[in-house]
Amino acid sequence: MEIEFKNVSYIYNLNTPLRKLALEEINLKFKEGKINVIMGKSGSGKTTLAQLINALLKPTRGKIEIDDFVIERNLKMKNINDLRVNVGFVFQFPEEQIFNKTVKKEIVFGMKYLNYKRGSEDERAAMALKMVGLDESYLKRDPFTLSGGEMRRVAIASILAFNPKVIIFDEPTVGLDSLAKKNLIRLIK
Ligand code: ADP
Ligand code: MG
Repeated sequence: MEIEFKNVSYIYNLNTPLRKLALEEINLKFKEGKINVIMGKSGSGKTTLAQLINALLKPTRGKIEIDDFVIERNLKMKNINDLRVNVGFVFQFPEEQIFNKTVKKEIVFGMKYLNYKRGSEDERAAMALKMVGLDESYLKRDPFTLSGGEMRRVAIASILAFNPKVIIFDEPTVGLDSLAKKNLIRLIK
């Protein structure tokens, strides 16, 4: 899927005294089949940019085209799930994303939410875990008892389970030790 930003601006708290211009007239294209890295100092707008691709935020001005899909200010919720099954988002901190009591429930939740029906839930959950290098014994575990690196793997597995065409990672290696960082980058590749 090709992703194109056309004159995209994003303003937080529009029409309030806390108005904050986070992105201004961004024009940008991501080609299919590539790993793109966005770097910038804290507060430069990386998360805002990333969240726009998944319609977690909608542009204040301009639009984002993802194949035939157009993300604009007035995009309806009904259409957003069609987008999210193709564009997965891994949050910066897995604790922001994970909320279920077991790893299996966490992985199955996204599939249920997005009405993803390919293969049985159990099979998909086990397969997604395997892809991130965790065995099936993790399915019964409470995600909040895992290490930081394992938790991040579960967060990624929950996205891989519905086989999106694009995955966005927001600062995926923050807070991991150097070995976990290396492993994670290998997994992304
Ligand atoms: P980065 O991810 O590069 O650190 P962000 O996209 O989080 O940057 O933030 C870009 C700018 O928008 C920053 O100035 C930040 O303070 C501001 N910002 C981010 N989130 C909010 C919010 N919810 N409300 C108001 N301003 C925000
Ligand atoms: Mg950020």
